[in-house]
Amino acid sequence: MEITWLGHAAVKIKGSRTVYIDPFLTGNPAAAIAADKITEADIVIVTHCHGDHTGDAFALAQKTGATLVGIHEIAVDAQAEGITAEGMNIGGTVDVKGVKVHMVQALHSAEKGCAAGVVVEMDGKRLYHAGDTGLTYDMKIIGEFFHPDLSFIPIGDRYTMGIPSAAKAVEFVQTKRVIPIHYDTFPIVKASPEEFKRRVGSLAEVIILKPGESFTL
Ligand code: ZN
Repeated sequence: MEITWLGHAAVKIKGSRTVYIDPFLTGNPAAAIAADKITEADIVIVTHCHGDHTGDAFALAQKTGATLVGIHEIAVDAQAEGITAEGMNIGGTVDVKGVKVHMVQALHSAEKGCAAGVVVEMDGKRLYHAGDTGLTYDMKIIGEFFHPDLSFIPIGDRYTMGIPSAAKAVEFVQTKRVIPIHYDTFPIVKASPEEFKRRVGSLAEVIILKPGESFTL
């Protein structure tokens, strides 16, 4: 499968299905692609109700016919706009078009519902997107349950983990590979992915992408 970082927390996962997570593109100075250039999507996942994560999610689901997956309160709003949406909550799993989405804990605020992370299970691979979160000991549970093949971990500090705590999260999550996200979008979340890589050391393979770059898993 092909993994593309689109800037900030936005990622595209292209396997047997095309999945977008937190597609904040319009108004994102680091966005690798304009939302109106996206024509195909099967599933759009939103980790939590903040503008830099909900972003273009509703518009994308509307245009492509993708199923939107998110916390109950976001899904209700999406359904009211005619979008096919699967609402869920932390601890739950939904199977959408053969892709399993597990919702896991995140320590963060949200304008509606609560913030969450997700583990996406597709084509025999498990990918953890932490959403926005602080470091939490519960990440050990994610590691023990899911053994992620790849994780997206925020490193930008202030609103999420910074580099020292993000490196500790990699240890807790026992992920094989990690792509740092949620940094350098705005000056206020500036961070060095190289420093993160140094801190992680041999715990996991750190894959540093520029917005628009892809990694094949
Ligand atoms: Zn947030």
